Amino acid sequence: MARNHDRSASLFAEAKQVIPGGVNSPVRAFKSVEMTPLYIERGNGSRVYDVDGNEYIDYVCSWGPLILGHAHPDVVEAVRETAVKGTSFGAPTQLETELALLVTERMPAVEVVRMVNSGTEATMSALRLARAYTKRNKILKFEGCYHGHSDSLLIKAGSGVATLGLPDSPGVPENTGQHTLTVPYNDLDSARVAFQKFGHDIAAVIVEPVAGNMGVVPPVPDFLEGLRRLTEHYGSLLIFDEVMTGFRVGYYSAQGLYQIQPDLTTMGKVIGGGLPVGAYGGRREIMELVAPSGPVYQAGTLSGNPLAMAAGVMTLTQMDQAKYELLEVRASRLEQGLRENAEAAGIPYHINRVGSMVCLFFTGEKVSSYEQAKQSDQRRFAAYFRHMLDQGISLPPSQFEGMFVSTAHSEDDIERTLEANRHALAQL
Ligand code: PMP
Repeated sequence: MARNHDRSASLFAEAKQVIPGGVNSPVRAFKSVEMTPLYIERGNGSRVYDVDGNEYIDYVCSWGPLILGHAHPDVVEAVRETAVKGTSFGAPTQLETELALLVTERMPAVEVVRMVNSGTEATMSALRLARAYTKRNKILKFEGCYHGHSDSLLIKAGSGVATLGLPDSPGVPENTGQHTLTVPYNDLDSARVAFQKFGHDIAAVIVEPVAGNMGVVPPVPDFLEGLRRLTEHYGSLLIFDEVMTGFRVGYYSAQGLYQIQPDLTTMGKVIGGGLPVGAYGGRREIMELVAPSGPVYQAGTLSGNPLAMAAGVMTLTQMDQAKYELLEVRASRLEQGLRENAEAAGIPYHINRVGSMVCLFFTGEKVSSYEQAKQSDQRRFAAYFRHMLDQGISLPPSQFEGMFVSTAHSEDDIERTLEANRHALAQL
């Protein structure tokens, strides 16, 4: 029996009068699952509760940040303790150095790090820095990777390999596309062709080391290594966008997992423990170009905000090696159960997982590129999403995003999720 969402529906109607599309970030509108969004009243551990009184086991986890689950008592306490002393000063605080130390200890390639307020700011600033450092203009990115919404990154591929890009949104000047090259993810040969054609103009390659914005798509063997070699050969910088994977796929993030040293790394999500944060960092020699130590301008009224720093410090402190092992146990059980259920239901499926990022694609073919991810049956995903929601399981409302498992998901939560999954697949 469908759950009651009346109050959510009426709040959404009201919001649409004063907020574009009713939401402050498009995917929240539940368009691709053909529903109106749920309005969430509160969260606790693995659970969220909507305004109609429904309870859900949540795998959105704020789209990744909540690796410890909702309202973790120590994170809440750290924020509370900090807030009563003042929420922002526009002056340095010790918490910023504490978080920077935690980041530099755990990210092998990050020696110096600058805090910003979102992943978008992090990638935008990293590109500016890469362009300044190399004195070049072009960047190379990959189809299906998302790096936030700054102009140079809202560019889709032109027709054919290694052509210049086209704006993906009205409002992005056409000539911005001249500086952004886009080739398929996991396709080292296409990246090589782009370098053969434009290599000495390419300031940086920006890549999600595990793509998390087209479902979950791990790098194929030698893809990241090949990018490291190409960028070194042409004197370009390699930027790992670890906004999603940073402190999510392992204690040492994706760069530790795959043993690659990017020149620059962008971060967000987990390092803010659920508060607004982003960061970019890397080799000292490059980072020293950032103002005020160098001439590359970048600033922020609320950057390094004490509340966000406190939440981040507590989250990273809590996330010791044992917690990542626990996540691995939970997420691998989830993966195994999803596989068994899909197999038993006889539906075409493909599952990708890296650490606590898990994605069930509704396609029988392997998924290692955006083209392949797009082969998924999205109507089937939408129906599946709604059946799961009816049984109290909240999934990211898009086939192009993975489930995020947190340390708050218990063994019982995973088993209940698999039970719901079994029923949902049977109804498709
Ligand atoms: N990079 C990646 C890899 C992301 O997943 C995201 C957000 N999902 C961003 C950048 C942009 O971050 P934000 O939404 O905080 O601007």
